[in-house]
Amino acid sequence: MSKKVRVRFAPSPTGGLHLGGVRTVLFNYLFAKQMGGDFIVRIEDTDQTRFVAGAEDYIFNTLKWCGLEPDESPLHGGPYAPYRQSERKESYRQYAEQLVKAGYAYYAFDTPAELEEMRNKFKTAENPSPQYNQVLREKMRNSLTLGEQEVSSFLSEGMPYVIRIKTPLNETVSFTDMIRGEVSFNTSQVDDKVLLKADGMPTYHLAVVVDDYLMKITHAFRGEEWLPSAPVHLLLWKYLGWLADMPQWAHLPLILKPDGNGKLSKRDGDRLGFPVFAMDWTDPATHETTTGFKEKGFLPEAFVNLLAMLGWNDGTDNEIFSMEELIHKFSMERVHKGGAKFDYEKAKWYNHEWIKKSGVERLELGVRNVFEEKGIVITDSNLLLKVIELVKDRCTLLPDFVQQGSFFFQSPAVIDTDSVKPKWDDKKNMFFTELIRAYELSTLWETSDLEKEFKELAAANQLKPGELMAPFRIMLVGGKFGPGVFDIAAVIGKNETIKRIEHMLQLLQN
Ligand code: GLU
Repeated sequence: MSKKVRVRFAPSPTGGLHLGGVRTVLFNYLFAKQMGGDFIVRIEDTDQTRFVAGAEDYIFNTLKWCGLEPDESPLHGGPYAPYRQSERKESYRQYAEQLVKAGYAYYAFDTPAELEEMRNKFKTAENPSPQYNQVLREKMRNSLTLGEQEVSSFLSEGMPYVIRIKTPLNETVSFTDMIRGEVSFNTSQVDDKVLLKADGMPTYHLAVVVDDYLMKITHAFRGEEWLPSAPVHLLLWKYLGWLADMPQWAHLPLILKPDGNGKLSKRDGDRLGFPVFAMDWTDPATHETTTGFKEKGFLPEAFVNLLAMLGWNDGTDNEIFSMEELIHKFSMERVHKGGAKFDYEKAKWYNHEWIKKSGVERLELGVRNVFEEKGIVITDSNLLLKVIELVKDRCTLLPDFVQQGSFFFQSPAVIDTDSVKPKWDDKKNMFFTELIRAYELSTLWETSDLEKEFKELAAANQLKPGELMAPFRIMLVGGKFGPGVFDIAAVIGKNETIKRIEHMLQLLQN
């Protein structure tokens, strides 16, 4: 029987979640769901110096917003708890010690000053930052260079030490990446990474391998920036005797700046005016807020859809996929090796498509919120739904609903009389005065009735309806935008329509 698929997203909670991070979650999630497997979130917080308050909550809120709920996590619990590495501290030491005993790792007693000295002493033009590696470890204070006695007395005296992996010289290690195929490394390029720190905490390298093993992870998908760490992990899987259980890896392509020059960073977003984080993130130290896709007015369906298309397609021209469709169609083999350029205009296009595609009820809450943020409180839900139906095809981001629809709920604050004035004359004035009377008397208030009356009156006055519609629109909405003008009149009702025509006539008299 084949093993149950178990994948994990293993973030270090150090700040807002970059869209590349959410895409990693998404690909993990899609794969797990397609295979009937489990999606685990494990918090990799062993580096206490990088602890950032609120970052973990932020991650879970983002996953919730995107609809990427884990099956197991510190919040959801699960059979392999705890899911926070800081709470698993005690489980790592034994493996580091096991490696020391087997000769694959060693104790290193070097002080920070000694390490600094080593870096200065061996620095050359070709090697500006010398590493603690196969060559230099011979020159340092560790259990490879010191006598056995000395080592045991250091240990019993409680001298601080770290445990480092003993990387072999000039060996080739390789694995098959689900996206890149066979990937090999020469171990001489790998330094002797610290596995267990002086405070007893594991480093990422040890913890990720131990936890992937203990949590029975079958597939590990992560960003391409982790590829250089892969040989260290491979050696650890091998030295711990777990190679047969090593997960299958996929290193996902980078998300690139719009011009394709390097990895997309938070700073690019600030510079170019688009979000890079999933949701707003406020740095607790600087109180600086970075805008997220959510607050910018993206629907989670669109966000998920656009992320999936950053590096993947289904082999056709189809670009719009729901989560269900993605679960069905996704395949790691179709993920490109090359980086995916981020295009904000395209991102907005996805949102526009999703707004058009969504039913009015789906949009109601989000639209209500954007109105409320602008101080427009909506009490009539039916009215709101009608407005959404009328304007949604014109909206790209949720706040566009305010621009496209606020005049349904309140008289326009600004009225563009300037574009009416040049063509205004007595005949038009007469027409609208009569229109007020006609509408006052009308017993029917549907779009088609209003249009009919308007056009009949225009004909009776020998005026072209086309010349009258533009001023009528400006009376009702304040400018040259919005859905069909008779639809607007039908929705805002008789009193409001007449009031707005009268208001304009007054403005034009002054
Ligand atoms: N803790 C790593 C991160 O912050 C996880 C990398 C991995 O998935 O192995 O992304």
